[in-house]
Amino acid sequence: MEELKPFEAERRQMVEFQLRRRGIRDERVLAAMLHVPRHEFVPKKFMELAYQDRPLPIGKAETISQPYIVAAMTEAALVQPGDVVLEVGTGSGYQAAVLAWLGARVYSIERVQELAESARARLARLGYGAVEVVCGDGSEGYSAGAPYQAILVTAASPQPPPALVDQLAVGGRMVIPVGGFRLQRLQLMEKTVSGIAVRNLDSCQFVPLIGKYGWPQKSLGRENA
Ligand code: SAM
Repeated sequence: MEELKPFEAERRQMVEFQLRRRGIRDERVLAAMLHVPRHEFVPKKFMELAYQDRPLPIGKAETISQPYIVAAMTEAALVQPGDVVLEVGTGSGYQAAVLAWLGARVYSIERVQELAESARARLARLGYGAVEVVCGDGSEGYSAGAPYQAILVTAASPQPPPALVDQLAVGGRMVIPVGGFRLQRLQLMEKTVSGIAVRNLDSCQFVPLIGKYGWPQKSLGRENA
């Protein structure tokens, strides 16, 4: 009998029931999420819950995003092998690993130093060497890696940060939750020679983007300020 990798049965179920049957069609995205070991990106005490249809705490009052939203954002970004991609909000590094699995060169920026350091170590240990984790305010982007074929913002912003729009390549796509502190709309922004086209996708609930072009730090509680 074929031996299953740890949590492989749970991962297959996640892909089938939470992603494919809910409308994720891109076979490369489905394959990436079948391969990346999500249980390695949550604290040990939550490993058994890693493939459930929900975000989970990762410490510092932050979360690993729900699998469906990771898939929906990745699919909308149309990431191709060799693309240079910026992720804002590394968290524990799961989305960055999915992008790296698709063959992208990934810059991922995280404002909480402790999270950035542990994500960097985790991604290296798991073999996602194509990800460079940077600590800083991602609402200002990361100009050293620009221009980007895709930008994925995994924290909620009151408006698309102008620095991120500037750092997007012509022909590039940015996926970003835009709206209020508690409820947002996922937006797909495509940069063309003649301007920016915006399309509304799913509604969503992300933790806030804290920074110069996001929400002020004082809007946070004490734990992750
Ligand atoms: N991308 C992660 C994943 O794969 O599960 C989920 C990230 S979590 C929903 C959002 C992250 O954005 C948090 O770790 C938070 O600290 C970070 N964040 C918030 N504001 C930020 C900013 N201005 N720059 C960089 N990271 C930020």
